[in-house]
Amino acid sequence: MRTSVEDPVRVHRTLIRRVASGAPEFIDITADVVKAVEESGIREGTVLIFSRHTTAAIKINENEPLLLRDMGRFLEEAAPRDGNYRHNDFVIRTANMTEDECPNGHAHCQHLLLGASETIPISEGKPLLGRWQSIFLIELDRPRPREVVVQVQGW
Ligand code: ZN
Repeated sequence: MRTSVEDPVRVHRTLIRRVASGAPEFIDITADVVKAVEESGIREGTVLIFSRHTTAAIKINENEPLLLRDMGRFLEEAAPRDGNYRHNDFVIRTANMTEDECPNGHAHCQHLLLGASETIPISEGKPLLGRWQSIFLIELDRPRPREVVVQVQGW
């Protein structure tokens, strides 16, 4: 616990790297986050888990295999891979085009529903996750190298 107003806030940052085997894919990174919090030595504060991508999201939910399939189907229904997206029209599109550009309008639209980060309070050196809460990196596009920043802040 913070003992006086003079105690400076500490910041500890680590990077998690992952590659999915398909999409949508829910990658459970809870153990990595717990480890990062432990290694930070920070006992009281918050941990921010942040995806550095527009087509890979961070979300807390339950790690139950059938539910992961349900949620994958929900995302596919919300923004189908084979839907009609202007972002995928490489004839008219000129912005942000890369050598290996893939049609991924669906993944951006799914990401809009999920978001890039979650924040969890830390008490006594552990994230205060509930019994059924797991932290997921969710690949929405295709297997590609992904980076997740875990920033622990506190005392
Ligand atoms: Zn894109």
